[in-house]
Amino acid sequence: MSNIAVSSPLGGGAFEAGLVPYPEDVAGEYRAAGYWNGRTLPSELKTAALEHADQTALITPELTLSYRDLFADAESFAAGLLEATSLWPGDAVMFQMGNVAETVVSYLGCLMAGIRPVCTLPQHGVREISVLARHVGARGLILQADFGHGQLPDHARELVSGGVVDEVIVTRGPVFDSAVAYADLLRIGTSMDPAELPYRTLDPGQVAVFQLSGGTTGLPKVAPRLHEEYAYNACAWANKLGWGRGTVALYPLPIMHNAGISVALHPALLSGATLVLAPSASIGTLLDLIEATRPNVIPLVPPALAVRLLKDPRSRETDLSSIKDFIVGGQKLPLEIAERLREVLGIKIRQKFGMAEGMFMVTPPDASEQVRHHTVGAPISPADEILILQPDSDIEVADGEVGELCVRGPYTIRGYYRAERHNAEAFTAEGFYRTGDLARRHVIDDMTCYSIDGRIKDVINRGVEKIHADEVEELIMRHPDVANVALVAMPDEVLGERGCAYLVLETGAQPLTVESLGGFLLAQGLAKYKLPERVESVPSLPLSNVGKVAKKVLRDDIAHKLADELTPDA
Ligand code: AMP
Repeated sequence: MSNIAVSSPLGGGAFEAGLVPYPEDVAGEYRAAGYWNGRTLPSELKTAALEHADQTALITPELTLSYRDLFADAESFAAGLLEATSLWPGDAVMFQMGNVAETVVSYLGCLMAGIRPVCTLPQHGVREISVLARHVGARGLILQADFGHGQLPDHARELVSGGVVDEVIVTRGPVFDSAVAYADLLRIGTSMDPAELPYRTLDPGQVAVFQLSGGTTGLPKVAPRLHEEYAYNACAWANKLGWGRGTVALYPLPIMHNAGISVALHPALLSGATLVLAPSASIGTLLDLIEATRPNVIPLVPPALAVRLLKDPRSRETDLSSIKDFIVGGQKLPLEIAERLREVLGIKIRQKFGMAEGMFMVTPPDASEQVRHHTVGAPISPADEILILQPDSDIEVADGEVGELCVRGPYTIRGYYRAERHNAEAFTAEGFYRTGDLARRHVIDDMTCYSIDGRIKDVINRGVEKIHADEVEELIMRHPDVANVALVAMPDEVLGERGCAYLVLETGAQPLTVESLGGFLLAQGLAKYKLPERVESVPSLPLSNVGKVAKKVLRDDIAHKLADELTPDA
């Protein structure tokens, strides 16, 4: 194997530039306490695969794979990748893959080859992939040719001709130009000796996976997830939920998100559970999979999806009794939805909070409704630490008061990758991550738990996809007819929030519509899910007393307009 047997450039030693490591004494404490175990993420996954070889690891509507077969494919992919491409251990590879088995195989295969997956989405445009690939230094791209309208191969050609990536691996469609077929990698890798794969020699303190946080116009926010801490994140979740053989976890959201990896893929495969991967979050698909696979846990249901489940009459006819843990999260849960899930579908929800930077909270299964309906519970690790600080200060607020949620612990990053400027603002001097979320600490039934009460970061949470306002605003400002813009969240019954663009137009310009602005932004390479879904033209933007755009005024304005439109006679 050409690139396999070489000693890995990641085999220990100094931390790479731009990576903020955990302080040595802290890492020592995490190891001494048994949270971290000095092994790499792929080593942990492989150990679990050997232990549970005959169990079912993965179910999709297309196939079922045992641990033995899944990891045999992943090892073949890894070996093929190192043999038949110019990629090396330590390289990063962009992912543009949906919820299909090939995604799981190639993700695991990259880890086993010592190659770092970058968890981009198939919805991302050429510009977004280019910016992120350059930021992390990615050289490869794995794409799903039949995703969406089949646009990804064309995007990949552009990325190769623009010198952004050197290697393209194509799944589920014909190869083109110099791209390599997924099936060929598996075939080539099958004849190699998996014992030569480099993952055992990697440094567990180095980057295993890159997760995304911010937008792509300014300096990107990329969360470097390190082998030991990322594996621990998943183990802590699996332990907290009591996962093991016999657990069947159905996951309905994009699996390459941090949430997909940390509450579904890793914890399932590290604990001997079965992961059922839904190809989409359509209610029909989910109900079919629930009937066919009888999952006992759905580890993340965004409120938006819960609403659709409640609305579909088929939900009431489907036997949901296998689901013991129905965990809602990703967005603020309106109380009414929790109550209707109980009343209409007999579902007793739990809530969770989590983020790409780390820190997960979940409500205990047996907690009172006061805890399960009103809070996101408590952190999943005993070593997680939380401060609720007055925004822009290091002063803690009293219990019950709203402040910024600041977190630190054995799976929360200590800094964004190659982003000193962000890190100076986003972390306290003691290494707590300032989440930009507003929260309160409560003591209910003798239990300390937390509620999420809004946010100070300028983000729109659209059915758990995050839209960073500054990214969209910067692209809108490139439109010749726009003099100023503010993108704000408008409430939406289905998705929780959608983006509304308040535009100040240049004198004499024709009004822009959702369609015309959308067309312009798509041409700028913005992903479709980030497009503004309403446009309001205003003579000027309201300013706060420190001269910043008063987005709260705009959010209130659009919320009132929407309410008035619903009750036109009021
Ligand atoms: P991501 O990094 O994409 O997983 O998004 C993390 C962000 O989603 C958090 O910082 C919150 O703003 C939001 N979030 C996640 N879970 C919840 C929740 N249960 N309630 C409210 N907001 C949430």
